[in-house]
Amino acid sequence: MVQENMFKKISSSARILNPFKSHTPDELPFEIRFDPLTGETGRVFHLPFKAEKPDFEKTVKRSKEIFCPFCPEVLAKSTPAFPEDIVPGSRITVGSASVFPNMVPFDQYAAVAVFSERHFIPMEELTPRTMGDAFFASLRFLKRIQDFDRKIKFFSINWNYMPPAGSSIVHPHLQPSASEVPTNHLRRQMEGLERYFEKYKRNYWADFVEQEKSLGERYIGEIGSTFWVMNFLPFGFLPDVSCILPERGSLSELTEEDITLFLSGLSRILRYFLEQNVYSFNLALFCVRRAENFRVNARICPRLLPRPIGNSDIACPQMLHGESYTVYSPESVCGAVREVFQRED
Ligand SMILES: [Zn+2]
Repeated sequence: MVQENMFKKISSSARILNPFKSHTPDELPFEIRFDPLTGETGRVFHLPFKAEKPDFEKTVKRSKEIFCPFCPEVLAKSTPAFPEDIVPGSRITVGSASVFPNMVPFDQYAAVAVFSERHFIPMEELTPRTMGDAFFASLRFLKRIQDFDRKIKFFSINWNYMPPAGSSIVHPHLQPSASEVPTNHLRRQMEGLERYFEKYKRNYWADFVEQEKSLGERYIGEIGSTFWVMNFLPFGFLPDVSCILPERGSLSELTEEDITLFLSGLSRILRYFLEQNVYSFNLALFCVRRAENFRVNARICPRLLPRPIGNSDIACPQMLHGESYTVYSPESVCGAVREVFQRED
């Protein structure tokens, strides 16, 4: 059995007397969308919105004045190291990147991967070359933990780029993490995959890729082992993007070459964000040790302070209701994303 359409939504509208049309009757359309994998709901609006280019000059200057533990003069002294049994040599170094324990204990094995000696890397300069070392070093760390502790089953590489995305330190760094217990989102993914398999006796991701490709309205493109698509139910204030590796079912199967291809796609998505004046994002790459229906996947969510008063793009709906809202639909911008994605470098 094949599921015919996995993308379900309710289109509705609110009736108002519109002040911009002399208070005559009008309707504000909105959608309640259901995530095809997890069943979670979120709201999609059709509002005009254009981000303003943020000025990070002051933020970067202030961050240097305060103290940066990741700058080369102090890094060795101001950051922790792993006990020898966990990571032989106490730190993992790949090219300009180094991995050491995270002082915020998100988990038993939570690390920080500092990109390089550069305190600030503007988004324009986030290329596969400037990002590669930190991702390779994070991958090595997670694989080392996978071998070191058999109880650990869930892995992720996380990135908050710049303060609007929640980053407390400007100096670019990833946060690879390994755990016995999945986070809520990873657990919902696993549960959704199992539910789908029980019902249709098919792999969700294979069907998902096929449906998104044939529909085309959110499909961005493919680079080698990576499949890029805009999310039907975005998590953020602006539409977000997912990357799926349909042939990679576990951390063991994920290679450095996959990472290079992923970063090539990521740099193109970031180029689109830049063209929209979005200079901040969250990224998570999800992996597991082994699970029948799982596929390695990542999500990249643009972040911003929407209005000049500096308000957060996360409010009651996301924080207290666990309900996302997005000001315009992924379908309305997918063509533009695809155009940037497929543009020659
Ligand atoms: Zn620094």
